[in-house]
Amino acid sequence: MSKMPLTLYLAAPRGFCAGVDRAIKIVEMALDKWGAPVFVRHEIVHNKFVVDGLRDKGAVFVETLDECPDDRPVIFSAHGVPKAVPAAAAKREMVYVDATCPLVSKVHIEAQRHADNGLQMIMIGHAGHPETVGTMGQLPEGDVLLVETVEDVAHVDVRDPERLAFVTQTTLSVDDTIDIVEALKTRFPAIVGPHKEDICYATTNRQEAVKAMAPKCDAMLVVGAPNSSNSKRLVEVGTKAGCPYSQLVQRAADIDWRALDGITSMGITAGASAPEVLIEEVIQAFRDRYEVTVEMVETAVENVEFKVPRVLREPA
Ligand code: SF4
Repeated sequence: MSKMPLTLYLAAPRGFCAGVDRAIKIVEMALDKWGAPVFVRHEIVHNKFVVDGLRDKGAVFVETLDECPDDRPVIFSAHGVPKAVPAAAAKREMVYVDATCPLVSKVHIEAQRHADNGLQMIMIGHAGHPETVGTMGQLPEGDVLLVETVEDVAHVDVRDPERLAFVTQTTLSVDDTIDIVEALKTRFPAIVGPHKEDICYATTNRQEAVKAMAPKCDAMLVVGAPNSSNSKRLVEVGTKAGCPYSQLVQRAADIDWRALDGITSMGITAGASAPEVLIEEVIQAFRDRYEVTVEMVETAVENVEFKVPRVLREPA
């Protein structure tokens, strides 16, 4: 039986960002330097394929520092950690490497600087996400107020409306965040914040590519994990930008083929923690069923690279 034709639009940029690339390198280099096991507090990046691969090489993933022995190195994930975590590791004289993305660390420094200037902090982010927990944890518990939606802004109870600052999670929806920042500025005109928000280049670029691609597509797949904030935002952005059906998949096996019945165009992108090999697997699954023509939708070219910490560049 002859295959039906399908135009497959491929978003660029997609997949791995510089912070994820660096975090994975940190675990691999730590394993090379110190041997297995190396402990990693929280999934180094939100991707099961990546985590399973590192586990096979000798990484042990835990959720708390209490689960790590004193005499093995521990790595903190790309999402960042509350200040109390490295402090506890130092107290136990553990060897630790911080794989927090430098763009998240920049937000941590911003939050501390505002607090040092006597401003009360508001964080725009998702409750419980490790990055939000890490950023709020740069200051004493209860000092940072969290807002997740425009509606939350109306209810936030501040100490002094004249002495406020805000920071944001790096992986939010650019458009939703603009609305929340606007609501904050309307209610608290004196609030201080970054020029726009703290959403990183990788999140912004992946959302822009999806906005350009979505209107051309009958359906769209985002390769990424269900706990990956930036992957989930790509699904939402695709829907808002006019794609009638958007789905998050971890692997080709997750594709709901029945939902794709009758399509002639398909968009594919991937969250910042999804490796290219999984995108290739998904493309191959389409090639197996359709006569595929691939077209790139490129809205930016990325050349960002972050160095790994010095301790891993020095010999053991
Ligand atoms: S998504 Fe952005 S903030 Fe998060 S690791 Fe990648 S570059 Fe860093």
